[in-house]
Amino acid sequence: MQEMTRVKVGEHLIVNVNRRSLCDNCAVESCVAVQSGRVLECKRFKAPFIALVKCKSCGHMFDIFSNLNALDYELCPVCGELQR
Ligand SMILES: [Zn+2]
Repeated sequence: MQEMTRVKVGEHLIVNVNRRSLCDNCAVESCVAVQSGRVLECKRFKAPFIALVKCKSCGHMFDIFSNLNALDYELCPVCGELQR
């Protein structure tokens, strides 16, 4: 699996999202949730920036960090789930 994904946010901004673990994208310093293995949910998670993407299927805006496990980053969590 590809670990780094480039996601287009808005017209001119492209961000790199590390899909290996939520911890890799977290702005919280010395978080106790850091474990070995893949963390996909964390209550302490704080995104380093807000990255809202428009779903190419339903048009809803969603936060790419809420969708770290997605197969297709241009789909919101709901539409992504339907595609499985
Ligand atoms: Zn959608």
